[in-house]
Amino acid sequence: MFNPLNAILGLFSLDIGIDLGTANTLVAVRNKGVVINEPSWVAINKRTREPLAVGAEAREMVGRTPATIVAIRPLRDGVISEFEITEAMLEYFITKVHARSFVPFPRPRVVIGIPSGVTEVEKRAVFDAAISAGAREVHLIEEPMAAAIGAGLPVAESRGSMVVDIGGGTTEVAVFAMGGIVVSRSIRVAGDEMDEDIMAYMRSKYNLLVGERMAERVKLRIGSGYPLKEELTMPVRGRNLITGLPQEIDVSSIEIREALAPSVNMIVDAVKDTLDDTPPELVADLMDIGVCLAGGGAQLQGLANRLAEEIRMHVWVAEDSMTCVARGASKILENYEMLHKVLVGLERGSTHH
Ligand code: ADP
Ligand code: MG
Repeated sequence: MFNPLNAILGLFSLDIGIDLGTANTLVAVRNKGVVINEPSWVAINKRTREPLAVGAEAREMVGRTPATIVAIRPLRDGVISEFEITEAMLEYFITKVHARSFVPFPRPRVVIGIPSGVTEVEKRAVFDAAISAGAREVHLIEEPMAAAIGAGLPVAESRGSMVVDIGGGTTEVAVFAMGGIVVSRSIRVAGDEMDEDIMAYMRSKYNLLVGERMAERVKLRIGSGYPLKEELTMPVRGRNLITGLPQEIDVSSIEIREALAPSVNMIVDAVKDTLDDTPPELVADLMDIGVCLAGGGAQLQGLANRLAEEIRMHVWVAEDSMTCVARGASKILENYEMLHKVLVGLERGSTHH
């Protein structure tokens, strides 16, 4: 319904979309794009649990902090394991964006993309955190829906479309039609698990203990889901478990592909299972439009090729795949009709002050 007051407020207010990701939190402002892109890390005082730093600054502290400070990822597995800390993180980011804008009033309208596994209680906590951070209006949206909108998929139309959002902690597969999610699956296998695959492989094959950050670097540089035109190698550093001494070993992309196979296979299976559950009419639509990959993990070299071969459909990586959720969330506020279509049943009572 058209509300003139809302329309006028809308002209001046800040519309913010937030991707509360397991690995990265992004904030996009309507008409401006992504203004914050930081790791979802918070450093806290171990004893008082008081947050000391958020985002990149907090991640920098990992492994370098005195015993009293600990850096954590409150959303690591796609569930909000650390309530107050998630709240502190959200408040920090909203306040940061709001403080930067030249219009101090009215307060922002916020759409937050949350992992689809979160419980009602967790949703409530996210909602309350956004309100207490100064939001005038808060809407929650399931991450894959926001990703699909950010990727430009026709989610509001009757024809079906599909997104596979591969993040840090979770992979979410969803099929959309008529503004709703028709079938979906969420698995706790994504970028982090790939890093762990690499660590396990290096340990068992070379007795080399490598850190998480090193494993991620290996994945980004030479990781793949499909044979590369030109296979690569890179030196990997760690500690030899037998000698206890530092060691550097040259590793090939062929080996790393073998290391990543368990995670990649689970992602492939999640997509296949979702397709199995999809009504045939929508599968037919997907054969036209293909399957869209989003999230940071979508950028793993050759993953799209591997999936395409397995499901015999066109598979493509969304443009700027890591920012789809945040851009999609902020875009929803442009369009009230869309807002009501896609948020039905998810909105936990929007609040006006
Ligand atoms: P989330 O939404 O859970 O916060 P993101 O969508 O930000 O996660 O993706 C983060 C994950 O993407 C990390 O595990 C990161 O290592 C991975 N990633 C980023 N770029 C690449 C790349 N080029 N190849 C493979 N993985 C990547
Ligand atoms: Mg994500």
